[in-house]
Amino acid sequence: MQEYDLAIIGSGIGGALIAALNKNKNHILFEKDSNLGGCASTFKRYGNYYNVGATTFVGYEENHIIKKIFDDINYVPNIEESKIAIRTIQDKKVVDRVRNFEEFLIQIQEYYPNKNNRIFWGKIKKIDERFWQIKNIHFAKYSLKSYLKSLLTFKDLIKTFEMDLFKSASSFIKDTLGDISKEYQNFIDAQLLITVQSKLNDVSLLSMALGLSYPFHKVFYVNNGMGTIIEDILKEVNVHKKEEILNIKSLEDGYLIRSSKDEYKAKNIVLNTTIYDSKNLFDEKIKSYYEKFEFSDQSAFTLYLKIDSKKEFLEHYQIILKDDIPNCISNSFFISFSKLNDEKMSQNGYSVTISTHTKVTTWKALLNEEYKKQKEITQNFILEHFLDYFDTIKQEQIIKIFSATSLTFQRFIGRENCGGKAINLKTILQTPTCKTPFKGLYNVGDTIFAGQGWPGVALGASILDKELNEEF
Ligand SMILES: Cc1cc2nc3c(=O)[nH]c(=O)nc-3n(C[C@H](O)[C@H](O)[C@H](O)COP(=O)(O)OP(=O)(O)OC[C@H]3O[C@@H](n4cnc5c(N)ncnc54)[C@H](O)[C@@H]3O)c2cc1C
Repeated sequence: MQEYDLAIIGSGIGGALIAALNKNKNHILFEKDSNLGGCASTFKRYGNYYNVGATTFVGYEENHIIKKIFDDINYVPNIEESKIAIRTIQDKKVVDRVRNFEEFLIQIQEYYPNKNNRIFWGKIKKIDERFWQIKNIHFAKYSLKSYLKSLLTFKDLIKTFEMDLFKSASSFIKDTLGDISKEYQNFIDAQLLITVQSKLNDVSLLSMALGLSYPFHKVFYVNNGMGTIIEDILKEVNVHKKEEILNIKSLEDGYLIRSSKDEYKAKNIVLNTTIYDSKNLFDEKIKSYYEKFEFSDQSAFTLYLKIDSKKEFLEHYQIILKDDIPNCISNSFFISFSKLNDEKMSQNGYSVTISTHTKVTTWKALLNEEYKKQKEITQNFILEHFLDYFDTIKQEQIIKIFSATSLTFQRFIGRENCGGKAINLKTILQTPTCKTPFKGLYNVGDTIFAGQGWPGVALGASILDKELNEEF
């Protein structure tokens, strides 16, 4: 039987970063799908390429964890900065999320006027800047020493943000902007949904600041699809694709791993499966550890389009509607166009990924025919509104269209939930850490601290990497 010091299960952003950072160890990475990258992968269907979910790449800049990790592994991604990160459209209100604060503020003031907009958005930006300046963020709860080390992180956070750290997003809005219009609240909620998977009533000021500040950073377009970053950083990693891990048993000196193809031994395991799905891999003690994490009933509905057009579009748009999308928990959808000069993604026309938020339970409850019917209703609704807003695109130019629900995500990448829970003062103690109480067993990914997307998962991976290096 083959034996390894480190086995990584899953090639999502978290698994891939950990594997790349530890490629000099005696390691192996298992990926059940034929594509690498999970929610950040690029797949081929009907001869065309599409990004599964993640399309924006943020955090490749000085003082940011992603740049640091990529420098450490000696990797320079093939990316281009988007001049306008996202164009947000709500009825006739068009706000371009640009990096330049003054330019952004003029637009906000025009469409969502408030005498304190400068104070509000200035504070949001400042909190985000100071967060990313904090060095040595640590989050673990497995021993007294680790608690103390985590407390030091919180000491730095409290020192930096003082009482702001304890404020809720909604009370901060009330204190600075007062009672805001429904449209302004929708504008803020729509952006928070894509960055922290929650609306402002559920998040802390810190989470709101990190979520809303996303476009104040450089937002990049990834040439040849998001999945190429993952494929590139895994080039020197021992990857076993299309090999699903079915069961893991603990041994005296490590773990016995049973896959769809073989059996392996590993001293240490990093699980890139979600905190909710990891329980399915274990029996008894470890299973009951994972069972205690309450399922987060959130997922994505995605549409994939191939559009035969030569018209110029931005890379990202967000459309905010008046009413919720059928079978979804949002009234907005996020659209990403490939660049026309991207030879891989834009072969045969634009590759477009559209996504919105839904619940796992909505789709799970439906039986075959009803599932298909409801999926079509949601797809048609989004398509109709998309064509309304992009009136230079005609229906007949859409040469391919198909969509995915939480069940599709489950089938391909083994997760029906998409996105973790927003961290606030109530949820922080339940937030999973990278280290488990079991020797040699670790977690990484967007259901683990620090959260979702490239920045959140990379921060979690960097905390885990330090833990691993202390162990090895
Ligand atoms: C629709 C959508 C749009 C998004 N847009 C953005 C964006 O624009 N920018 C951004 O930064 N983030 C975005 N995100 C969030 C981001 O994509 C995720 O937070 C991130 O990719 C999750 O990474 P992860 O490490 O948790 O791994 P995951 O993506 O969950 O990957 C886990 C991997 O493990 C594999 N696996 C699971 N079980 C097994 C098993 N038993 N054996 C072997 N392999 C297994 C899966 O196949 C998968 O490849 C988006 C997410 C979605 C869903």
